[in-house]
Amino acid sequence: MKLLDDLERKLKAIDARSMRRRVRVTDSPCAPRMKVDGVEGCELLAFCSNDYLGLAAHPRVVEAMQEGAARYGAGSGASHLISGHSRAHALLEEKLAAFVGPHLEQARALYFCTGYMANLAMLSAFGGMDTAIFSEELNHASLIDGGRLTRADVVTYPHGDLAALEKLLAESDAKTKLVVTDSVFSMDGDLAPLPQLLTLCERYNAWLMVDDAHGFGILGEHGRGALEHFNLHSPYLIYMGTLGKAAGVGGAFVAAHETVIEWLVQRARPYIYTTAAPPAIAHALSTSIDIIAGEEGRALRKHLQSLIQQLQTSLTLRLWRQLRSTTAIQPIIIGENQSALDAAAALLEQGLWVPAIRPPTVPPNTARLRVTLSAAHTKEDVEQLASILNALEQAQTATALET
Ligand SMILES: *Cc1c(COP(=O)(O)O)cnc(C)c1O
Repeated sequence: MKLLDDLERKLKAIDARSMRRRVRVTDSPCAPRMKVDGVEGCELLAFCSNDYLGLAAHPRVVEAMQEGAARYGAGSGASHLISGHSRAHALLEEKLAAFVGPHLEQARALYFCTGYMANLAMLSAFGGMDTAIFSEELNHASLIDGGRLTRADVVTYPHGDLAALEKLLAESDAKTKLVVTDSVFSMDGDLAPLPQLLTLCERYNAWLMVDDAHGFGILGEHGRGALEHFNLHSPYLIYMGTLGKAAGVGGAFVAAHETVIEWLVQRARPYIYTTAAPPAIAHALSTSIDIIAGEEGRALRKHLQSLIQQLQTSLTLRLWRQLRSTTAIQPIIIGENQSALDAAAALLEQGLWVPAIRPPTVPPNTARLRVTLSAAHTKEDVEQLASILNALEQAQTATALET
């Protein structure tokens, strides 16, 4: 059939560039040690998840999910605006608003099924024809797609380039201006200069939308995220935190001035036209937030920080490039797609699961191993990772010098 032949041909072209991706089936909860379909024998030591605090399989969170299902049933049955908004959703939103509230003005929070949808919602609800969106070059795909859903002008500014952004803001005569950025860049692990960005936004009367997918739960003394880390407070801030990463469950929330949130409720199609997430998820998340905000969260963050430091100081790479990241995202740039895949395969052979990330997720010729650390890892786990990576890279360097 011609239509299928067309697709087959396109898939072959993907193979030719070493860009074919595959789905792996896991047979155990998300944790440092995982069983994976197709890898026989031993469990793998995994450095791939965004479960930065190890809450995805935390007994108290799992128990809360069970309790939530017993109390509220399995599904929500409808969208939020019809009848799907349960007490569990309402309580979670109140808890989240109180948690990040110190950094906003008259904070209210709105829960979404996924971070992807929260970002589509934020940008599509704000972007009318008299709006300009200023989007950081390395922003997550969901922010880019959100920009595509709007009728607003979307301009991209270079990574971390405050001067370029200021020039764009000064030249814009749009009625509404939005600056949109990741707080922690998901493939590099570096932080956006949020205080400077906020100053620019206040000067040019623009909103600052912060996607804190990799900061919420992790950054700041209480785990409130990037806004706490930088000690920011402003009515210009619109904050998005995801709940499937450090919070260990799923979904996301937007927090901002109550008027902003009310606008989303009225106008954000990815909020309005979808079935509300199962209430048990919201119920489990309330327990996650309690853990993040409490003593246990503090201890988990401290342990994670020590693992980050340990990995940064124990790699001795020469051919590959270790990025200086202070976050749980610890990328090692290799370059060519095939070399990155080979490295990931070699690690797998030694029982380590580290994903290779290729374009278009990252710029061309910067294919990399994306190591992510979790508070569930031990010092010995990181020691093992570092020594295997060092040995592997040395073997590669030796081959490179010979040829
Ligand atoms: C993961 C991620 C998202 C999407 O969140 P999901 O809840 O996984 O849909 C959005 N932005 C960034 C920066 C992310 O890393």
